[in-house]
Amino acid sequence: MIGILGGTFDPIHFGHLRPALDCLQALGLDEIRLVPLNVAVHREPPVASAMLRLAMLEAAIVGQPGFVADAREIERPGGSYTYDTLISLRAELGGERPLCLLIGADAFAGFPGWHRPTDLLDLAHLVVMRRPGASVMLDPGLQALCAGRIRTRPGDLAESPAGRILFQEVTQIDVSATRVRTLVGQGLSPRWLLPDAVVSIIAAEGLYR
Ligand code: ATP
Repeated sequence: MIGILGGTFDPIHFGHLRPALDCLQALGLDEIRLVPLNVAVHREPPVASAMLRLAMLEAAIVGQPGFVADAREIERPGGSYTYDTLISLRAELGGERPLCLLIGADAFAGFPGWHRPTDLLDLAHLVVMRRPGASVMLDPGLQALCAGRIRTRPGDLAESPAGRILFQEVTQIDVSATRVRTLVGQGLSPRWLLPDAVVSIIAAEGLYR
């Protein structure tokens, strides 16, 4: 199985990396593709260039088996839609390999409003990363989307290429890219919120000042 974690990664930090590693290990994924977006469709544009966000991501995952930087959204012009990314991954990997789209519980709440949500579930499983002990509220739109899809064992995802939904507990690390950018903008150190290699790139490139 292959996991996919998309994001702005402006910059990547431990709040992305540790939950991704939790999923890699808990689900027995062969790899996780970390996919930086190019043109944001639901939020304001990133501060750092796509090339620097990719360089920071690559520096962050050096030496971590199973973590792969995937530049397909950066290489694709126009808005970065997860649907297009999954279509492109399916073209590369074929229709049979299980794909797991990793999303946070907050993002899951808005999932019915994403571009072609039902088609996304035809292309991949959904792994909802949640806070330990917290339940995820399902409003009527989510309930309809989830009907018959929810599974509790990672092995249930491995049996099919797509279409199932699993809630996975992950480590909570209270850091956001916004906080990192704010600290740097204030002339303060963001150290130990993100890998040192990323801190070094931020300093060398004069990012977020
Ligand atoms: P920003 O502060 O600029 O909005 P961010 O820190 O939320 O950025 P993104 O790159 O937008 O980072 O996030 C990519 C994905 O990682 C999203 O699904 C987001 O919910 C998730 N994520 C971000 N920070 C954390 C965190 N601390 N713990 C768990 N998931 C996170």
